[in-house]
Amino acid sequence: RPGPHSGYGPGELLALDRAHVWHPYGPMPGRTDPLIVESASGVRLRLAEPVHGQRELIDGMSSWWSAIHGYNHPVLNEAAHGQLERMSHVMFGGLTHEPAVRLATRLVEITPEPLRHVFLCDSGSVSVEVAVKMCLQYWRSVGRPAKQRLLTWRGGYHGDTWQPMSVCDPEGGMHELWSGVLPRQIFAEAPPAEFDESYAADLRDLVARHADELAAVIVEPVVQGAGGMRFHSPGYLRVLRAACDEHGVLLIFDEIATGFGRTGALFAAELAGVSPDVMCLGKALTGGYLTMAATLCTSRVAEGISLGEVPVLAHGPTFMGNPLASAVACASIDLLLGQDWQQEVKRLEAGLREGLAEAEGLPGVKDVRVLGAIGVVQLDHEVDMAAATEAAVRAGVWLRPFRDLVYTMPPYVTGDGDLARVCRAVCAAVRAG
Ligand code: PLP
Repeated sequence: RPGPHSGYGPGELLALDRAHVWHPYGPMPGRTDPLIVESASGVRLRLAEPVHGQRELIDGMSSWWSAIHGYNHPVLNEAAHGQLERMSHVMFGGLTHEPAVRLATRLVEITPEPLRHVFLCDSGSVSVEVAVKMCLQYWRSVGRPAKQRLLTWRGGYHGDTWQPMSVCDPEGGMHELWSGVLPRQIFAEAPPAEFDESYAADLRDLVARHADELAAVIVEPVVQGAGGMRFHSPGYLRVLRAACDEHGVLLIFDEIATGFGRTGALFAAELAGVSPDVMCLGKALTGGYLTMAATLCTSRVAEGISLGEVPVLAHGPTFMGNPLASAVACASIDLLLGQDWQQEVKRLEAGLREGLAEAEGLPGVKDVRVLGAIGVVQLDHEVDMAAATEAAVRAGVWLRPFRDLVYTMPPYVTGDGDLARVCRAVCAAVRAG
């Protein structure tokens, strides 16, 4: 049908959505009706029409950990508009530009030493692909081609492309379907919440035993997110750092979810006082405005790669270093660091502890845990996603419960009243689910 496809009524829009548009982990044609978001501002999503009596929902998810400053922020809007008038995109092969250089330099400044080189790509999954590629290529280049496998924890999630899928939780996880064909990696048990010396000893032992074939250990530091919202002692990161150093294995921290303050530290690595060889960032990098991710590595890794038969990192996506996303990322970082963000995250942590305490007494609740601006209620059963989501929406809040979890990671700009409402919605979702 020719002509501009705009001005759809909600019914028509949903019918076309179901017919044509894939959603995350969704069937085709679609079977459930997503809510139609018309606009978003501050911490609120405005729906095209009222749903369960609500036209506006407080976003308790920060659009999957990303919108830390909320929506439609004047500072980020200005950065985007300013850059848009100069150029929204230009290829990065043979060309460079100020936004990308400024962003890379800023990332090197704020991430732990000795991370020094930055690959700017367009999604978290790709940044993990790049991280893995860097490590595999490093070992080939320095004459250890047998070191091509990865070690990770069960219960992890690192993205939906091939290498990241191979290090996601292999059982009951999102990518079980592919278990026979993905690269075969080495899995340690998911780390316990508290430091356990015998678990740490097993971890050391596993790294030692597989060192000859291991390119890298890859983990989400302190919080395992989409694989189960588990928290663990930062002590395990020190154990991994020491074991990797001792046995000649690289260490990758996937800080795509934890980066930019979510755990209360700017990067979760800081909670352990250790630095990885390679670090992945994404999600909140642009304050959730645009799709961009980054892979940082040390000079040792970069120099090792340059010794190889192919002395370049053979990766170069079309939208690498996108200027628009880079400019907004710089503005988002300045916005975050220009305020007392630690105080804000502490305020949210206190509010989540207080507000979610009620969930502890509810039937079916196995655990309630809070860290930084992350609040998690774990059930003793699989949550009824539809019923739990509906209960949250009725309470005026957007949540996305999954598996046995009802959880929230609100934007840092969520006020105390709205945060209390988010907590009440989490409890309502727990009761319904
Ligand atoms: N790594 C972690 C820790 C994540 O939480 C995610 C996304 O949820 C990814 C990687 C993948 O990022 P993206 O969805 O941007 O590809």
